[in-house]
Amino acid sequence: MSFMSKKVKVIPCSGIGKVHGLLAREMALKIAQEICIEEAETDCLAHIVTGDQEISDRIKDGKCMTIDGCPKMCAAKSVAYIGGNIAEKFRVVDALKEYRGAAPGSATALNEEGWKIVDETSEKLAARVREIYREE
Ligand code: SF4
Repeated sequence: MSFMSKKVKVIPCSGIGKVHGLLAREMALKIAQEICIEEAETDCLAHIVTGDQEISDRIKDGKCMTIDGCPKMCAAKSVAYIGGNIAEKFRVVDALKEYRGAAPGSATALNEEGWKIVDETSEKLAARVREIYREE
C-alpha cells in the first residue's frame, strides 16, 4: 500500500518594509527547499490572494503552515479567506522574543545574526511540519 500524504504548504507573508517579512520568507524557503523537501512546499501569498481557482484548489487540498512577520497576520488571514486548513500559524515577532536585543539585518538583507535566527527557527518549524505531514 502506498503512503500518499500531501505536502504541507508553508506560506510566508509578503512584508517588505521591515526585516520581519524577509525573515518569514527565508524561513519558508529553508523549510520547503532544504529541510523538508519531501514533506513541504511553498507558494506565493500574492498568488493566493488573486483567488485563482488552481491555487485555491491546491491550498484547500491539504494543510498549511503560515509564517507571518507581524501581528497583522496577512498570510494566515489570506489562506483562511480562501478556505485553507491552517495547522500552524507562526509569527516571526514571537521567535524574535527568544533573541532579545537581536539586530537581524534590514528589510533587504539579513546579517549573520539574522541567518542564525532563520536556521534555528526553521529547524523548529520543520519538526512541526513533519508532525503535520504525518497527521494527514
Ligand atoms: S503580516 Fe505584517 S509584515 Fe507580513 S505582510 Fe502583513 S503587515 Fe507586512
